[in-house]
Amino acid sequence: MLPTASPRLRLRVSPVAQAALRKGHPWLYSDAIREQNREGKLGELAVVYDRNDRFLAAGLFEPESPIRVRLLHSGKPVQIDNEWWERRLRSTTERRADLFNSLTTGFRWINGESDGWPGLVLDRFGSTLVLKIYTGIWLPRLPEILRLITGQLQPERIVIRLSRNLQAMALGQFALSDGQVLFGPPLEGPVVFQETGIYFEADVLRGQKTGFFLDQRENRRIVETLSAGREVLNAFSFSGGFSLYAARGGACAVSDLDISRHALESSERNFKLNQEDARVTACHHELVQADAFEWLKNERERKFDLVVLDPPSLAKRELEREGAIRAYGALAVAGMERLRAGGILLACSCSAHVSIEEFYAVIRRAAEKSGRVFSEQRTAGHAQDHPATFAEAQYLKAIYLRF
Ligand code: SAH
Repeated sequence: MLPTASPRLRLRVSPVAQAALRKGHPWLYSDAIREQNREGKLGELAVVYDRNDRFLAAGLFEPESPIRVRLLHSGKPVQIDNEWWERRLRSTTERRADLFNSLTTGFRWINGESDGWPGLVLDRFGSTLVLKIYTGIWLPRLPEILRLITGQLQPERIVIRLSRNLQAMALGQFALSDGQVLFGPPLEGPVVFQETGIYFEADVLRGQKTGFFLDQRENRRIVETLSAGREVLNAFSFSGGFSLYAARGGACAVSDLDISRHALESSERNFKLNQEDARVTACHHELVQADAFEWLKNERERKFDLVVLDPPSLAKRELEREGAIRAYGALAVAGMERLRAGGILLACSCSAHVSIEEFYAVIRRAAEKSGRVFSEQRTAGHAQDHPATFAEAQYLKAIYLRF
């Protein structure tokens, strides 16, 4: 895709890295590189060969990054040309072909490494697509990627979102800014889409991630089935995703608890968008702007029949892992104390640094320590349009306990 007159960038790597690449791990770290025929440019194709000069893998090069190459392909030699990219996008979107009907117009088309697009996410919200870029390798390739996406998916509009660490470089070297409309008509506010027939807005220009947490769809659907006749607390409610599902599931009251006024206002608008649904109108909707950790500890007289705890990542770095595990435990204890007999706790974690086992263990321990009788109902993870093919990609976990 990038015109280069120089010879192909060729690498040889350590035996350990070679084994990892063979198994399909998507990252090659800089310290595993043993030989490199020349300096590499941002986003150029790098080919990894084994000791006997056999093709091992091909990926995109990022100078100066500890993850030096992000893999596109490993195994048999391939020509990574325009047709290859066309096929890759087609196979990615075909994987979602049977997942959604016309009542769900918001979902993930491309989920980074696990779909073969390292560090790249593409979310659909109605006719608007949001392209979120987490690594510089895609920046020199954007015109090509946009041509591919517009050709195959025919969106009305494409908005680009850049992870924070890329923003200065993207502006300086590529004149790209976070929230820029790269294709289609300009956009001022949020866009509206449907998820299983519920209307939501997504602030695709400025909101967290791509504007909406599509990864929690399955848990929201489960919450809908658990909500009839219940009083629900949605802690860390953001734009009210869990709350709308609870309301449609027949909850008599839902309280949104979030530290951000913007998040609560968005939830209020989302309830308004669904006024046609009698169950949503019948549900009493309360907005509480507060620090959820404090509120749960202090509001001892408030009781609920279903408590959802979906905090932001509590461990952004490996160093924060142990503190985060303790914080998940403390949060679960505070959540359980707000539950009436027969109540259900849903505890979620989106920290990749806290493993599935560690998270479930700390929540179960908190429940055992409460001295109350409880049963574990189920665990759940990502929605189906968020495949996770390697350990680092399995960040979302959820556990349901009934007291
Ligand atoms: N459950 C949501 C996503 C939650 S995102 C959904 O399904 O869409 C995390 C939310 O936690 C954000 O809205 C953020 O504003 C809020 N938040 C972060 N720290 C908080 C705190 N200390 N107390 C309450 N809310 C907080």
